[in-house]
Amino acid sequence: MIFIFGTRESHLRTIPTPGHACTACANNEALSLLFFSRYAHLFFVPLFPVSRRMQVVCANCRQSGSESAIPASLLPSAKHLQKQTGRPWWQFIGLMLVGAAVAFFAVAALTSKPKDEQDKEELARLRQPQVGDVYVLNTADKGNVMLLRVQKVVPDSVYVSPSKAAEGSFKAYQHSHDANNYQPNQYAVPLSKLVNMHQQGELYDVLRD
Ligand SMILES: [Zn+2]
Repeated sequence: MIFIFGTRESHLRTIPTPGHACTACANNEALSLLFFSRYAHLFFVPLFPVSRRMQVVCANCRQSGSESAIPASLLPSAKHLQKQTGRPWWQFIGLMLVGAAVAFFAVAALTSKPKDEQDKEELARLRQPQVGDVYVLNTADKGNVMLLRVQKVVPDSVYVSPSKAAEGSFKAYQHSHDANNYQPNQYAVPLSKLVNMHQQGELYDVLRD
């Protein structure tokens, strides 16, 4: 993979500064100060600003130069103006994106249960089934799931009804507790088999109201 990383410079503003003599042609009315900000980018997405620069330009003799070409009388106010020149918000886009990503993952880590804790909870539900529990099963059709609803609990087994059709997990979860979503037929499944299917990852969620 090729990363296009580098820095670019953008012009922020130009301020005319009459009343100071050009160091080359001595014209008193022709100097302007230009302010620039250099920023790092990745694939041309700005990440953060890295440096500032100012330049003096004479409209009369066309001389332009960096800080050393700025007349001594102008230098203190030039430095002040440079400090005053804010960086545009878009030069911080990379930092903002990183901040947003960090916040997103921090919230995700704080709100999601660790995998093994979730597994424990699912196993407990499988071993102590209740009528109305819904088992979520992977299907051969990738991305789709099949639901099994517990209709009756007997020692060591449950009677389940399969959902009418396999469908995308998002949609299936939405109406998983709707009795109309299930076929009328029931069949018995031993609890040991459910635990086994859970270990295989075939049955990957147990929903309980
Ligand atoms: Zn000049």
